[in-house]
Amino acid sequence: MRKETREYNFDWMLWNSFTAAAQLKKGTEKEYRSMLKYIPYFRGVVESILDAGEPGQKFLDICSKYMENVITAKEKGKKTAITTFCFSPAIFYAMDIIPVCLEVISVMMTFTYKRGTAEFLDYCNEVGYTETSCSSQRGTIGAYLAGIGADIDMIVTDTPGVCDTNANAFAFASAYLDKPFFQLDMPPDLTGERSNEYHREDYRALIKFLEEQTGKKLDPEKLRANLRELAKQDEIIAELEDLARMVPNPLPVSYNLMVYASRFLFAGMPECTGVLESMLEVARENAAKNISGLSGGVEKLRAFFCYIDHYAQNLQLWKMLDINGICYQGNILSRSWAHNAPHVTEYNKEEVAYTIDTTDIDSLIDSLAMINSRMPMIKSIRGPYDAPNMWLEDTLGLAKLYNADLIVYNGTPGCRNTWGMVKLFARDTEKAGFPTYIMYADAFDARVQSWEATEERFMEFLKVRRLV
Ligand code: SF4
Repeated sequence: MRKETREYNFDWMLWNSFTAAAQLKKGTEKEYRSMLKYIPYFRGVVESILDAGEPGQKFLDICSKYMENVITAKEKGKKTAITTFCFSPAIFYAMDIIPVCLEVISVMMTFTYKRGTAEFLDYCNEVGYTETSCSSQRGTIGAYLAGIGADIDMIVTDTPGVCDTNANAFAFASAYLDKPFFQLDMPPDLTGERSNEYHREDYRALIKFLEEQTGKKLDPEKLRANLRELAKQDEIIAELEDLARMVPNPLPVSYNLMVYASRFLFAGMPECTGVLESMLEVARENAAKNISGLSGGVEKLRAFFCYIDHYAQNLQLWKMLDINGICYQGNILSRSWAHNAPHVTEYNKEEVAYTIDTTDIDSLIDSLAMINSRMPMIKSIRGPYDAPNMWLEDTLGLAKLYNADLIVYNGTPGCRNTWGMVKLFARDTEKAGFPTYIMYADAFDARVQSWEATEERFMEFLKVRRLV
């Protein structure tokens, strides 16, 4: 790692970037436009998000707040926990712990910096990670391993049995940094009393661990308030998802990203609700006027992303879709498995959904255990890809419901669990009538395949399959 990179704490720098970006539109339009030329590498992100109007502004505000929470945790007397995107942060907020979600912070850096996270990715390899371990954790954990981030008190994850590269990344960091470690396990069966019971008991062990680390008992009232907020968020997401079924889709392409990122950052907190409410307002207005969310106003294709997105600098994936009139019909990161989600009610999938019950402490913990076990990736990719309620069934159900014309896979070379089955998976989705494109890029590391090459190949696929 370069000496210069070690000069400042990386999370402090990121907080500064997002805080400055969040202020840009608070002056006049002229001031805003004049400022853009001074941030040549960051302007793409700023423009893409702020041009989304109030939801974009609110989204930048909460990104800045999240990073501020991380860097000021110690002076506010709070504990910090490194965690993962498929772990609901609601429990951390209920216990006054500041979550540090590695994958989301990697995305923030990949979007923002021309250099991406390359130095942190490589630093992990220098200290012992394999090169094929997932880049979404390495992009951020490298900085913490190098000692250029906020103090971390514990590491908490929930991916054993689902994604071993993810689970190993956290286990390695715990050993290397000598920090207390807790992992929830995921049995291969999603449903059934044995699995449910396992999730609930495992979750109680997690709470015991968090109580030991913080020296405080879980406050049921705080948890209840968070889960009520989470239920409100689920309702908004259900309505957004319903609106996305319309033709034309009234949601701008960036909304899907803002839905899942807001949940990963602040599930159960008013910050997340604020962004969602603001998106819902715009989406409802567009729907009432029968307007497409695309900036060109003409919907040509509808794409469903069956795994994660490509986080090339400046949100280039979303720009490409928008310019080409391709609606973003969601991915598995943005889907909620709440009892009222459209895909749950449409397909009578109540058995796999969760319901929030705030009656007493037991029902609160059970609800949270169920929410957590239905988070992205650990919901759909824990068992064989073509087993009931797993990746193939979820993808086909969602692609049909949202009227997709094509399905796109993107991941990282570290996704051994999805790479191991993606060809079979694509064969099945093709058989079901969906042209399926497999991107050979790394969502977080442009050195694997440049964005330009990724875009060219994607466009070639559309032409070869006569979709454009
Ligand atoms: S499934 Fe892929 S993207 Fe998700 S954590 Fe595992 S390796 Fe990373």
